[in-house]
Amino acid sequence: MSALAILARARDAGVNIAVDGDDLLLTAPAQPPAAIVDLLAQHKHELIALLRPCSDDWMTEDWQAYFDERAGIIEYDGGVSRPEAEVRALDACIAEWLRRNPVRGSSERCLRCGGATRSDDTLLVFRGDSAGAWLHVQCWLAWSSHRNAEARSALAAMGLGSQGNS
Ligand SMILES: [Zn+2]
Repeated sequence: MSALAILARARDAGVNIAVDGDDLLLTAPAQPPAAIVDLLAQHKHELIALLRPCSDDWMTEDWQAYFDERAGIIEYDGGVSRPEAEVRALDACIAEWLRRNPVRGSSERCLRCGGATRSDDTLLVFRGDSAGAWLHVQCWLAWSSHRNAEARSALAAMGLGSQGNS
């Protein structure tokens, strides 16, 4: 289940979630269902990353400028069409967004499933997109595509990518 889906579930259950430093702050009118609390605990790091105000200091204008600059370079230097250049420029923005919005986990728990090292799958730290994302090898692919989707939607919200360039 993605962090977004968990958030939606928690909100449906009346649980309000905020970030307080490195912790989630839960408020609810009544005792929330244990299943929800467990989910939130398991996915704490992802939820914090999702909810924390963007720690990167680039504003929408900076992202748009970066995107335009990349697209221009790729279009002219790479000799590709503008639409193709924009697709590649978006990929560059995604990589930059991931670099600027790292998720730091702990070596105790897998960022995706919340589990510890298993005998058949030890936790490894992946530095491809994060400063220290500890994950099971088997969890990495799903985590990575989730992070990608997160970057894509953050950029789309700023007018970059499919939803913004109509
Ligand atoms: Zn895992």
